[in-house]
Amino acid sequence: MKGSPLISAKQLGQGYGSRIVFRALDLELQPGVTALLGPNGAGKTTLLQTLATVLPPRQGQLTIDGRVVVSEADARLARRRIGFLPQQFGYEPGMRVRDFVQYGAWIRGLPTREWAEASTIALEYVGLADEAASKMGRLSGGMRQRAAIAWAIVGKPDFVVLDEPTVGLDPQQRLRFRDIIVGLDDTTVLLSTHLIDDVDAICDRVVIMHEGRICFEGLTEDLKALDDPSIPGYTPLERAYMSLLPQEGSNR
Ligand code: ADP
Repeated sequence: MKGSPLISAKQLGQGYGSRIVFRALDLELQPGVTALLGPNGAGKTTLLQTLATVLPPRQGQLTIDGRVVVSEADARLARRRIGFLPQQFGYEPGMRVRDFVQYGAWIRGLPTREWAEASTIALEYVGLADEAASKMGRLSGGMRQRAAIAWAIVGKPDFVVLDEPTVGLDPQQRLRFRDIIVGLDDTTVLLSTHLIDDVDAICDRVVIMHEGRICFEGLTEDLKALDDPSIPGYTPLERAYMSLLPQEGSNR
């Protein structure tokens, strides 16, 4: 048992115009790494953006460390403790890596006097201290992704939200990414991914979403125990995950 939840969502509803993405969604997140899995269109990005206070919920209640987020002012305060890395993060190619990370510190509302040290710590943590003066546009894809993670963790937020952070990384870069995430210790990390072996390697818990509903929430080990050899898949976790999704051509 790792303590009370940092994030608690109750009866959360979200959508775009007349499109309802999810309704009455309950979720609690504790320190440790939680994977958010689900097919494309399930609502993962929308949920991540809602929990990161980027999108105000349409219905329900979001509580971050005991404080209910009601107004934009609450959300702004909450964001100081949240590092959110969107799927497509913007950067200016001519911007130096150090300035890019400091920009993250500014967005999070860190006091100006803390920017330089916090950025140095974040860049050291992701192994990019030597590239602090390099331009973002000159970095390799893997390095740029690490710079983005430094951007998300600068100032040590309690809640780190990463939307498909391993897309486009080669196997070596993914291994490095895993080490970075595992080292975040007491942080509450929520990451969406399609890569089941990343989940197996680094995630304590798993949330599976399908068509706006959570169809599994629990320990990775407990999900693995649902392995069904009759279901397609190469590993126990892959088969367990597939077994919870409606099979193609069925009405389940
Ligand atoms: P996932 O991340 O699981 O692929 P998303 O949260 O991106 O799912 O999308 C959930 C649903 O919401 C999809 O049907 C998608 O088409 C729709 N959607 C996502 N973003 C928007 C938007 N900005 N405007 C309208 N519909 C959207």
